[in-house]
Amino acid sequence: MINLRFVHRLLFLTAIYIFLPPTAARGGHSDYINPGYGNFSFHGIARNLFAQEELRPSLELTRGYMTNDDLEKAMKDFTKRCSKISRLYSIGKSVNGFPLWVIEISDRPGEIEAEPAFKYIGNVHGDEPVGRELLIRLANWICDNYKKDPLAQMIVENVHLHILPSLNPDGFSIRKRNNANDVDLNRDFPDQFSPVNDDLSLRQPETRAIMTWLRDTRFTASATLHGGALVANFPWDGTEDRRKYYYGCPDDEAYRFLARIYSKSHRNMSLSKEFKEGITNGASWYPIYGGMQDWNYIYGGCFELTLEISDNKWPRAPELPTIWDYNRKSMLNLVASIVKTGVHGRIFSLDQGKPLPGLVVVKGINYTVKAHQEYADYHRLLAPGQIYEVTASSPGYKPKTASVWLGDNAVTADFILIPEESSRGNLLRSNCDCDCKSCGQPLLAHFFTETNNGITLTLIVVVVFLCFLLQRRVRFNLLKQKQSSRRPITV
Ligand SMILES: [Zn+2]
Repeated sequence: MINLRFVHRLLFLTAIYIFLPPTAARGGHSDYINPGYGNFSFHGIARNLFAQEELRPSLELTRGYMTNDDLEKAMKDFTKRCSKISRLYSIGKSVNGFPLWVIEISDRPGEIEAEPAFKYIGNVHGDEPVGRELLIRLANWICDNYKKDPLAQMIVENVHLHILPSLNPDGFSIRKRNNANDVDLNRDFPDQFSPVNDDLSLRQPETRAIMTWLRDTRFTASATLHGGALVANFPWDGTEDRRKYYYGCPDDEAYRFLARIYSKSHRNMSLSKEFKEGITNGASWYPIYGGMQDWNYIYGGCFELTLEISDNKWPRAPELPTIWDYNRKSMLNLVASIVKTGVHGRIFSLDQGKPLPGLVVVKGINYTVKAHQEYADYHRLLAPGQIYEVTASSPGYKPKTASVWLGDNAVTADFILIPEESSRGNLLRSNCDCDCKSCGQPLLAHFFTETNNGITLTLIVVVVFLCFLLQRRVRFNLLKQKQSSRRPITV
């Protein structure tokens, strides 16, 4: 069957990733420690990762960091100061009852739009507080600059950015990794290699809040901020046989691309001597199970990275401005990447023009992206520099495929699907019924693209026959010309 895109537009947006000149753990590791394994060496302060609980920071070290109450006040102050582009909401409470506050930043906060959403989560581990400090800085920076900085403006206008600075306020308050029930939240999610159990009542309150959040909100991508190393980590985090080796997910290329956006925009992450380009596959570093990252990709439909943003888990507070400066472009570029790259569009029904909450798959990649239930917009992150065959489908409609060349910029590909029962007559009528200014062109396009194989074949036969007749006619005329040329032409 011949399938062509009905609408295929290109968006040209600037894509500048800054390459600059190192400093220090994905979610940190607590149940599998084998520093001598693998072909890289462990040295320096980055190895704080493997000595988590023993290095409980002193109270003195917490000076200059926001307490939980400080953070709550900072978030409330922020949404008052930047009320036009933000709102504050809670996704639940910690074990000890502290609200898990989220700031949403958008030109239409709280509204559902045909736009991708991104989430940043910090302080998953209580003793890794840098992320929560950086995230409140990120929110304020965007608010201060969205009218004058193109990147900030793009984020506000085209993305719904959700920021959860602290997932583990209880752990933070006692300067410990786990939550108040002594559970590592980055090991508490359903895992693909364990008996999957979506029973929320079996999860920690903080984990439950995240799972419910993703059930209610469609996120295209996200990142969690950890400390103890300096590297952008991507799925898979675990292997089936629980051994340590590179184990990429179906979207390995896209993930590598996203991880590189972060590392290369960072002051020194990509210069890492330990991790090539400052990125790593989780399972090749050390396998973990029950992590938030893999769960997001598999069950949440969300491309999540685990970002280790500081060698030192708990640096002294005066270092925070520098760490923010090192990470600022990375944090902004990663959010912007979900509109500056990839294939985006909407899925409509041809007969009524209604948005279809369809599915989008890419040939060769075993992963399905869902279009939004209401607006039917989809956002498919992909590595650039390739041609992709993108297929949209919806129950009761004929799937349609588009070949998309994805360069450095994002591509918009809308799909208009034909109901399975549509005949040619219905198709033509529905086209002319619509209020389109150039009805002939799409009519012709649809005539050739949307009819079934039998009609297409008939058309080809008719065209071939007409060509045959035309050829005979031309030969006949040439013969007559030759015959007449033998006679003298009277001028
Ligand atoms: Zn961590």
